[in-house]
Amino acid sequence: MSNKGSALRDVLLTVARDFGTPCYVYFMDQVRERVERARLAFGNRFRISYAVKSNPNPFILRRMMALVDLLDVSSAGEVLRALETGWDPAKLSFTGPGKTEAELQTAVDVGVGEVIVESVDEAQLLNRIAGRAGGRQGVIVRIAPSRVPRGFGLNMSGKPTQFGIDEEEVDSAVRAIRSLSHLRLCGFHIYSGTQCLNPAAIVENYEIFIEIFRRVCHEHEVRAEKLIFGSGIGIPYYESDTAVDLTAIAGQTNRLLDELKSDAMLSDTELVLETGRYLVGEAGVYVSRVIRRKHSRGVDICICDGGMNHHLGAAGHLGSLIQRNYQMFKITGEDDDGPEQVYNLVGPLCTTIDTLGRQVKFRGLEAGDLIGIRSSGAYGATASPIHFISHAPPKEIIVETVRGNLLIEDGSQFGSGRGEATREPQSQ
Ligand SMILES: *Cc1c(COP(=O)(O)O)cnc(C)c1O
Repeated sequence: MSNKGSALRDVLLTVARDFGTPCYVYFMDQVRERVERARLAFGNRFRISYAVKSNPNPFILRRMMALVDLLDVSSAGEVLRALETGWDPAKLSFTGPGKTEAELQTAVDVGVGEVIVESVDEAQLLNRIAGRAGGRQGVIVRIAPSRVPRGFGLNMSGKPTQFGIDEEEVDSAVRAIRSLSHLRLCGFHIYSGTQCLNPAAIVENYEIFIEIFRRVCHEHEVRAEKLIFGSGIGIPYYESDTAVDLTAIAGQTNRLLDELKSDAMLSDTELVLETGRYLVGEAGVYVSRVIRRKHSRGVDICICDGGMNHHLGAAGHLGSLIQRNYQMFKITGEDDDGPEQVYNLVGPLCTTIDTLGRQVKFRGLEAGDLIGIRSSGAYGATASPIHFISHAPPKEIIVETVRGNLLIEDGSQFGSGRGEATREPQSQ
């Protein structure tokens, strides 16, 4: 598992030397490449919406302004974060099953493009708020499909769910929502699962979306401005995972999207692909340093300076039933550091659940060595209990090619960091 002489390794060594560990490192060139790949694969049929919760780092949000079209926010905090980084509120859509009155008020006050309403109740509350403000708030109705393809990743539909309006009840809900005079129905939204690595299941999932969207638009004669497709596309986390071939998925999906758009009623409709981890997940590496090696009852244990407190997912506690090792590699050292040996990798916390890897193979891992954990760009720092046991928060370092030069800078958002790399992103 060495990574000798690679450009990646050199950058990570520089980062660790100049900024210290533990840290997340985000490679913006890869993010840009991902956005372009998504646009190209679907032949620009989709506008791209970035799900902020996957990585709300302010530098990334600012950079995304030049890369994606829209932003999916899931709390008033994310609304404000997006505005602080310069986003136009009209480009935000606000999802979430538990939006409070104060959050809806914020959405109306700042002029969020669309509130994704997830229940009739919520729509009625929003209607009162919008009425008091004297306007009409754009809304998109989130639908919870009654079925999800077999073999889908983490799915949240076809069973009782707090997300969206059950497909079985959507007709009466749409009638109720349309009768609210301070709301303007702009379209429909489905996000029924994620982290799917099975191309056939992803295509089938979009087929289900399309069928539901078409039926609901016709039934209620809605000339939708937007139909939002929660992408569901997964990324490889474990050794056994295979990356999805987006071109293969798009090859089959594009025909269905064209059919949908050929419907006279939907000819002006914008189709939106809403995704987070696909864009940023593989563009991030978490770097942790071995503080101490301990031999305990036949097992070599390496204790690192950051663990579950920074990276809940790698520790196996973010939606997975069992802990499997994320793909990781030794950054320091040489290929001739001796034969591969097996180590358990743990973090610094005083709890047994702080394990980053079980029986991982490295060549001669010692105190001082650096470990890189791949696929750490999404659901990393902000999805982890960074305050637990009061260790320092992780730094967040941005790596990006600007005019042919590789720039490395501190984009930390926690602790002493201000969440701002010193340089503003260059406009395209
Ligand atoms: C979390 C979320 C996403 C992004 O999911 P990924 O797995 O990161 O692509 C998109 N839409 C909604 C509504 C979400 O809650």
